[in-house]
Amino acid sequence: MIEALKTDYLIIGSGLVGMAFADTLFTETDANIIIVDRYAKPGGHWNMAYPFVTLHQPSSFFGVSSKELSRGEIDHIGLNKGMADLATGPELLAYFDDVMRQRFLASGRVQYFPMCEYEGDGKFRSKLTGKEHAVSYKKLVDATFLTIAVPSTHTPNFTIAPEVTFMPLNELPKVTQKPEGYVVIGGGKTGIDACLWLLDSDVDPEDITWIRSREAWLLDRANTQPTEAFFDKSVGSIAAQYEAIGGASSIANMFDRLEEGGYLLRLDQTLRPTMFHAATISKSEIAQLQRIKSIVRMGQVSAIESDRIILSKGEIPTTTGHVHVDCSASLERSFGHKKPSPIFDGDCITPQMIRAYQPAFSASMAAYVEVNYDTDAEKNRLCSLVPLPNNDADFIPMTLAMMMNQFNWSQDKPLRHWIRENRLDGFTKLISSVDKDDPQKMKIMERIKDNAMPAITKLQQFNVELAQGAENE
Ligand SMILES: Cc1cc2nc3c(=O)[nH]c(=O)nc-3n(C[C@H](O)[C@H](O)[C@H](O)COP(=O)(O)OP(=O)(O)OC[C@H]3O[C@@H](n4cnc5c(N)ncnc54)[C@H](O)[C@@H]3O)c2cc1C
Repeated sequence: MIEALKTDYLIIGSGLVGMAFADTLFTETDANIIIVDRYAKPGGHWNMAYPFVTLHQPSSFFGVSSKELSRGEIDHIGLNKGMADLATGPELLAYFDDVMRQRFLASGRVQYFPMCEYEGDGKFRSKLTGKEHAVSYKKLVDATFLTIAVPSTHTPNFTIAPEVTFMPLNELPKVTQKPEGYVVIGGGKTGIDACLWLLDSDVDPEDITWIRSREAWLLDRANTQPTEAFFDKSVGSIAAQYEAIGGASSIANMFDRLEEGGYLLRLDQTLRPTMFHAATISKSEIAQLQRIKSIVRMGQVSAIESDRIILSKGEIPTTTGHVHVDCSASLERSFGHKKPSPIFDGDCITPQMIRAYQPAFSASMAAYVEVNYDTDAEKNRLCSLVPLPNNDADFIPMTLAMMMNQFNWSQDKPLRHWIRENRLDGFTKLISSVDKDDPQKMKIMERIKDNAMPAITKLQQFNVELAQGAENE
């Protein structure tokens, strides 16, 4: 027996993107909404996160627009000392649960179907009871496009001998006896978090081997602080970024200048990064990570055997007494197979990134545009896709698309106002409240103004060079 349901918006996914979209839709309209998710609770991948996870950006511009997430505190201890609080995994889950129950469900306008698998064509099935539902809707919102693989649920793309001790980083707190050593597999954000947690737990850096197939450009968290006290650093970093790009003589020179200007960081000064996933880090965290000296750069792991780890460019010894920590869930494998398509396409909306690094803001703005503009063409013009970065060169089309969007938005007064008042935006309010009599701040604003167009022109030039390089390959 199939239960028939009717709604204005059917949203698949109650992760960050589904929740941020639903929240703005809820604020802007009287629409009815059905939200379906295969997990038991809202919050998406945060339900599967490791116990020591935190945001890597300040909480003040993460989550949904209508509800503050930040405690409004500055951390007084730890590697984020002096900077705005970073929500923990449990805090994020409690936050999303609160939004779902107190705001959405309490209104009577939203129905939530957790533990249900969406099967397409408006149909979903309860994983617990097998009950089927068929929804007739005005619009379908596929909030699963940005779903990312996490170590606790993905399948590693290498073989593991049965006698090997192998675990996702989620299991690290369950270790009960000192192993012969720890081998952390993966140089991305989760690899960084695993190493930081081990070091923070007093593990000797000499007991850690870190397999990093690629080096990454990283973002400095000090530049992401959206408060008056950090104005010079964070808004100054936008000016420094535009200056670095606008004055670059080549793509390699642009990265040098971005690093010199304090926009990009790296873990190892002797190696030029080839990866860019927009992971955000503090300088204290970098100093801590540099204590690990055994870094394996022999490409990707293909097999872990009882006495050796085989990589694409060599092998290293290991033992069954070592703990092998899986941090290898990759963005590349999460998104590699997905073809970006326009966000607005008839009765289907697929929220994707329209501002780099900001899935929450991007989803919220897609909802705002959905209800305040008429045609798909106009909506898609305002919500042009910002491609997700993987390699270093991806920084170029990503930044160009983001700057073009920013320019388009600035031409639309009501939209500009809405963005400024949206807590997920982070910086516009800070920038637009600059006191014109403050010479230091005005100087930074002038640097931004003077260098934005040269930066766009240079990014366009580099983009053409990249396209020509790809053609010649
Ligand atoms: C460790 C970590 C730290 C991060 N820190 C930050 C940060 O500081 N700042 C930032 O901006 N971003 C951060 N991110 C990324 C960010 O949290 C967003 O999570 C990202 O965009 C994914 O959110 P999402 O809602 O798209 O996907 P998910 O969280 O994966 O949610 C998608 C949901 O869709 C559901 N779903 C999928 N398919 C179906 C189906 N067929 N039927 C039913 N349900 C389905 C899933 O169950 C899931 O709940 C971080 C990510 C990780 C892994």
